[in-house]
Amino acid sequence: MQMNFHRKLPIPQEVKKEYPLTERMIQVKEARDESIRAVFDGRSDKFILVIGPCSADQSEPVLEYIGRLRRLEEQVSDKMILIPRIYTNKPRTNGQGYKGMLHQPNPEEKPDMYKGIIAIRELHLAALRDYDYTCADEMLYPENYRYLSDILSYNAVGARSVENQQHRLTASGLETPVGMKNPTGGDLVVMMNSIAAAQASHTFLYRGWEVTSEGNPYAHAILRGYVDYAGRSISNYHYEDLLRVDELYETMKLKNPSVIVDTNHNNSGKKYLEQIRIAKDVVHSRNQNPDIKRLVKGLMIESYLEDGAQAVGEHVFGKSITDPCLGWEKTRQLILDIAEKL
Ligand code: PEP
Ligand code: MN
Repeated sequence: MQMNFHRKLPIPQEVKKEYPLTERMIQVKEARDESIRAVFDGRSDKFILVIGPCSADQSEPVLEYIGRLRRLEEQVSDKMILIPRIYTNKPRTNGQGYKGMLHQPNPEEKPDMYKGIIAIRELHLAALRDYDYTCADEMLYPENYRYLSDILSYNAVGARSVENQQHRLTASGLETPVGMKNPTGGDLVVMMNSIAAAQASHTFLYRGWEVTSEGNPYAHAILRGYVDYAGRSISNYHYEDLLRVDELYETMKLKNPSVIVDTNHNNSGKKYLEQIRIAKDVVHSRNQNPDIKRLVKGLMIESYLEDGAQAVGEHVFGKSITDPCLGWEKTRQLILDIAEKL
């Protein structure tokens, strides 16, 4: 056998029982889910920011970051809803390197999936318990989604997963908004087909069960830029790109046409400081055209305590070990500037 089976791990139900939400946390989650859904179905015109580090590498700096967001949100809460990114699973371009807290609760030690399952649940629980934040994560492994299904308010299906059947089917069974990213090659029709699949009902095999999903009317697009055939970064956040997606929504007759613009990745070409200009550009496009204003529900921004990125093994507190992020001071200013222009 090529694969060694080390040990049987607890199923999501067992982990949820051992690390439960309190009654108050359940209420906060319900209220937040409702206010976020209201943005996607057009009942609310608040602007969403899915914001935080590329990867949640350690609990302490991530919670410090989230605490700062919470205090800042008080100043902008009439216009915005902040959803912190606590990304505990990392897809890697060539499959190598740090795979996130689920695999490596300590980025400098070898993978420990048991500790990882507990660590990611404890981190998401702490954000909710201490700061009233239900957060966003990437649904990289649909089978693992249920370890956090009672606590997440937003999920993304990544650029490398969006064409995958199991991701689409699982997304169709989530109660919360799920953002389908454009694939790394940039094909918008692949992304739209993925949204169509996630908005429909399906019967399929999930974790050893025959299940039927209801279809997720809150499945929507995330534009993250792309790479062309020669590996060059091409952006897709411009006015014309947004109108193109609006047209595709119209042609395909999908529910709740919505876009979140990811300001980093191939939109910035990972020049993370460009996120400031890109974010403002998108807000400007919204203000130019009511169709774009209705369509673009918010932004996804990669931000952490410190500017940039460092290698695993360097120890700057709150500096990304995956994609480079905007540091706190610039983030704070950007959020205030965006709020003023909404
Ligand atoms: C991310 O959001 O950090 C990420 C990996 O995104 P993408 O799937 O767009 O590369
Ligand atoms: Mn990233």
